[in-house]
Amino acid sequence: MIDYRDNPYFDLFLKQKENQYKVAQSTYSQRIRKLNKLHNALEYTYRKQIKEALYKDLKRPIIESDLVAIYLVIKEIKHAKANLHRWLKKKKVKSDLVLLGTKSWIKYEPKGVCLIMSPWNYPVNLTFSPLVAAIAAGNTVIIKPSEISANCSELMEVIVKDLFEEDEIALIQGDVDVAQNLLQLPFNHIFFTGSIPVGKIVMKAAARHLSSVTLELGGKSPVIIDKSADVKLAAKTVVWLKHFNCGQTCIAPDYVFIQEKILESFITHYKYYLNKFYGSDISSSESYGRIINKKHFNRLISYIDNAKASESEFLIEGKINKEEQFIGPTVISNLKQDALLMQEEVFGPILPVKTYDHKEEVINYLKDKDKPLALYVYSKSSFFTDLIINNTRAGTTCINGNGIQFSNHHLPFGGSNSSGIGKAHGFYSFKAFSNERAVLKRYASGPVTLLFPPYTTFKEKLAKLTVKWF
Ligand code: NAD
Repeated sequence: MIDYRDNPYFDLFLKQKENQYKVAQSTYSQRIRKLNKLHNALEYTYRKQIKEALYKDLKRPIIESDLVAIYLVIKEIKHAKANLHRWLKKKKVKSDLVLLGTKSWIKYEPKGVCLIMSPWNYPVNLTFSPLVAAIAAGNTVIIKPSEISANCSELMEVIVKDLFEEDEIALIQGDVDVAQNLLQLPFNHIFFTGSIPVGKIVMKAAARHLSSVTLELGGKSPVIIDKSADVKLAAKTVVWLKHFNCGQTCIAPDYVFIQEKILESFITHYKYYLNKFYGSDISSSESYGRIINKKHFNRLISYIDNAKASESEFLIEGKINKEEQFIGPTVISNLKQDALLMQEEVFGPILPVKTYDHKEEVINYLKDKDKPLALYVYSKSSFFTDLIINNTRAGTTCINGNGIQFSNHHLPFGGSNSSGIGKAHGFYSFKAFSNERAVLKRYASGPVTLLFPPYTTFKEKLAKLTVKWF
C-alpha cells in the first residue's frame, strides 16, 4: 500500500477523487455549459491576454496565436458540442445467435481523475484541447503546464480558477519536481504531450498504478519529394510549416528527402518563398518568431556548429542573434548520418536536406528509423505515394501538403510507438478520456443455458454443434 500523505498534491487529488462520480453523472447540458464557459473565455474574456502571454513567451506573431491557441481550441469545442449528444448515447452492438435473449451495448463512461501534462511550444492549445475532451467525457482533471512558457501557464491558472472549482478542474504550475510529485499519484488517465524521453518517464510512472496513458510525442518527421512533384508547392508549404512558430512544432518537417535532380529548383523556390513570407530582412519580420529560451537556442547552435565541423553544405545560412534568440532559416545538405541534425529532433528553423536517386533508397532509409509523428510525401504519381505509404510507418501523413492533417478533427492525431501512444482530436480525444464499458443485458432465457451442467451426452452433442455452426 503506497502512502501518499507526504505528497503535496494528495489533498487536491482526494478532493477530485471524491467528486468524480458527481462530475461523471453531469448531464449533457451541464457539460455543454462548461464547454461554453471555456469557449467564451478564449474567444472574448481572455483572448487579448492569451495573445500577449504567447508573445512574451514565444514572440509568437498575433495571427499564429489566433489560429492555433484560439481557433483550434474553439474548433475542438464546437466539434465536441455538435457531437456530444451522440457520443454519450449508448452504442448498441450486435449479438450472436447463441446470445439470443440478450442485448449488448457500449457505454462511454469517464475514466475518473485525469492528469493533463502539456509542453511549451503550443502551451494554450495543447493544454485546453485535451481539456475539452476531458470535460466532454465527464472527468475531473489536474493540469500541469510547462514551466518554460511561464507567462501562458500563469494566465491559464487564472483562467482555470475563474471558470472551475478545484475539486473538478485545477491547474498546478511548476517545474520537473512538481511534475514528478503529480506522477506519483494514482490517476485514472494521463494525457501527456511532450518529448520522447519524458514520455518514457510518464509511462514508467503510470505503470506503477496501471494508469492508462495517451502519449503525444515528437520525433523526426520526414518530407519526401519525388521528381514528379510540384516543386513550387512543396517549397512553399515546407517554408510555411518549417518556420511557423520558428520551427518549434511537433509536426514540422524535420528533414527533406528529395530526388537529386530537383534539389536546385527546390532551393530556388525555397529562397523565393522565404523572401515573400518574411521579406529580405527576416529578423525584422513580424511574422517570424524566436527560439523559446537560451537552452534551446544553444542546442540549435550546437547542431549548426556540429554541421560546420563536417563537410556539409549550407545551401541557405540564416543570421543568428544571441541576444534576441533569433536563428534565421537555414538549409543544410550533405550531412553525415551521425550529425546531430540527422540524429536529434531539430525543433527549430534548420532544415537538413538529403538527396536520393532511386525510391528504394528512401524506403530502405526509413525502414531503420523510428516511426515518425508525421510523414509527408509530395508527388503527382499515386503509385509513388502508395509505395511510400505502404512501405513506411507513421502516426499521420499528408500528401502534397504538410501539417494540415492536424486540423481535421475527424482524423485521429498522434504518433505510433516512439512518436506516441493513443490518439487525440474530436471523438478520438473523447475516447481517450473514456472507458468503453461493455454492457450485456439478459432479458430472456437463451440457448446458452442449455449448456449448463450437468454435462450429459446430449449436451456434449449440442456443444459440438455449437462449435461447428455458431
Ligand atoms: P518536455 O517533455 O520537456 O515537457 C513536457 C512536460 O513534461 C512539461 O509540463 C514539463 O514540465 C514536464 N517534464 C519535463 N521534464 C520532466 C521530467 N523529467 N519528469 C516529469 N515531467 C517532466 O517537452 P517540451 O520541451 O515542453 O516540448 C517539446 C516536445 O514536445 C518535442 O519533442 C515535441 O515534438 C513534442 N510535442 C509533441 C506534440 C504532439 O502533439 N505530439 C505537440 C507539441 C510538442
